[in-house]
Amino acid sequence: MLKIENLSVAINNKKILNDFNLKINSKEIHAIMGPNGIGKSTICKTIIGDSNYEVVSGKINFNSHNLLKLDITKRARLGIFLVNQMPIEIPGVTNAEMLRVALAEKTGENVGLFEFNKKMEEICEKLLIPKSFIHRGINEGMSGGERKKNELLHLWMLEPKFIILDELDSGLDIDSLKVVCKSILEYYKTHDCSILIISHNPELLESLNVSHVHVLKEGKLIASGNLNLAAKLAKEGFKGITKTNNISENKKDE
Ligand code: ADP
Ligand code: MG
Repeated sequence: MLKIENLSVAINNKKILNDFNLKINSKEIHAIMGPNGIGKSTICKTIIGDSNYEVVSGKINFNSHNLLKLDITKRARLGIFLVNQMPIEIPGVTNAEMLRVALAEKTGENVGLFEFNKKMEEICEKLLIPKSFIHRGINEGMSGGERKKNELLHLWMLEPKFIILDELDSGLDIDSLKVVCKSILEYYKTHDCSILIISHNPELLESLNVSHVHVLKEGKLIASGNLNLAAKLAKEGFKGITKTNNISENKKDE
């Protein structure tokens, strides 16, 4: 599904990713962990095509498309979807307006208002958000947790194939996190998709049944494993993980 090879990315001439490799197959759920400021969001934003991130070298392929040749809109049309660490407000454009236009773009036909409203209302009920969200400005005046749920409303409506969840748990209270996890798992079980999640929370990774856990350091993945690696990191921190003592585990995922 997604294959990143020898990717180097710079921001303001500072190299953040350096020979970064990652392969995610259909139905796999991968997590990337790493200290603050190491480049996790840079990976997410480079995959979606944020032009602030300069790709110096390397390749990103998604279902045989060369992503680096496509702008952000074309990548979204292929089914790549990013839930940002801090989703931004777009005042003056409501969820309903944006989603109806986006769905019409995606399907090539206008979506019936009755069906559209029914589906939106059902999703709001499941996410425990008020139906008034449907006609609110995108993320406008919403709390951090509400924004994450609002992004999930978009996800359910747009039905992406590759989902990137950047620090999913930030802003969510304990109960909301459970609701959001349940919703993501339900989506995963009912859709042909893969997920890349950034999180420091081993319990969250466990509840999402993450299949592969990686550690990012010095611009590349220095260790890969399963949920045991996340548990080890929670216990021992990132210091004990070095390139040499985990490189063999890393190789099998490249
Ligand atoms: P992480 O998500 O792992 O915490 P990021 O990928 O957001 O880290 O950032 C990696 C590095 O790039 C950090 O040092 C951060 O300050 C820097 N950075 C990110 N975005 C910008 C930007 N727009 N301008 C300047 N520096 C940036
Ligand atoms: Mg980040």
